[in-house]
Amino acid sequence: MQFDSNSQRDKQEQGKMTHRKTGADGSRKRLFLRGFSRRSFLGRAGVLTAAGFIAGIMSPLLSSVTKGGIVQAQNIDVQVGPFTVKSSVVKEVLAANREYARTFTKGNLAIPPARKFAILTCMDARLDPAKYAGLSEGDAHVIRNAGGRVSNDAIRSLVISHKLLGTQEWFVIHHTNCGMEFFTDDIISQLLEKDLDTATLNADGTFTPAGTPGTGSTEGYYIKWLTIEKQEESVARDVRRIRTHPLVPGYIPIYGYIYDVKTGRLNEVPRATEIGRPI
Ligand SMILES: [Zn+2]
Repeated sequence: MQFDSNSQRDKQEQGKMTHRKTGADGSRKRLFLRGFSRRSFLGRAGVLTAAGFIAGIMSPLLSSVTKGGIVQAQNIDVQVGPFTVKSSVVKEVLAANREYARTFTKGNLAIPPARKFAILTCMDARLDPAKYAGLSEGDAHVIRNAGGRVSNDAIRSLVISHKLLGTQEWFVIHHTNCGMEFFTDDIISQLLEKDLDTATLNADGTFTPAGTPGTGSTEGYYIKWLTIEKQEESVARDVRRIRTHPLVPGYIPIYGYIYDVKTGRLNEVPRATEIGRPI
């Protein structure tokens, strides 16, 4: 078990097939580069890895630390239980946790969120709901997934959040420059069919399989990946799904917002909030 990003990159030349998302006008989508720190994710082969790309929107897949603003892979061997991994992440997390626990004073909080609201938002690593919404431990529920989409599992969490734990207001918060805008169900399913390793996202907006051909699975074709075409549309659609869901009472207001990764601001999607008003 290892997370050595460089060895992934070394294998990237073997894939010939490329995958790209094509816009309605036939133009390739290149928006993923917008607002994205290319320097941070440039590998030594001069390509962006999909791990770097996804790491921008999701939890980091690569072991990395920031030094002078540049994310660098760590290649030191670290013993984690029975495994030797080329990553210092576990060590870093446990060190941070020791420091957190050293001054911890929140051991007597109640289970229900004190401020009685919930936020559904994207797992993007650039988003910190506790900071952007001013939350402390025990304040609110934060439900996160890729895109902040209203999946069946998000509904499950929201229903529990209200029915058993008393939240009374809900936010759906998507964000600008979301990675879910930059691929389609077909693209990810085709890549997974070839291999399971992290694909390369080339500078020209195409994906290249980077693993051993024939080691993938066709299971991806059976998953609805809930990609995003347009943020305002996805927020409105997701709010509508919650609003009309038979397990959600009509008196819960649902607010639709888009977080701007450039400014840190939450911008309302008025149409979505209108759809989400109590009925
Ligand atoms: Zn996102």
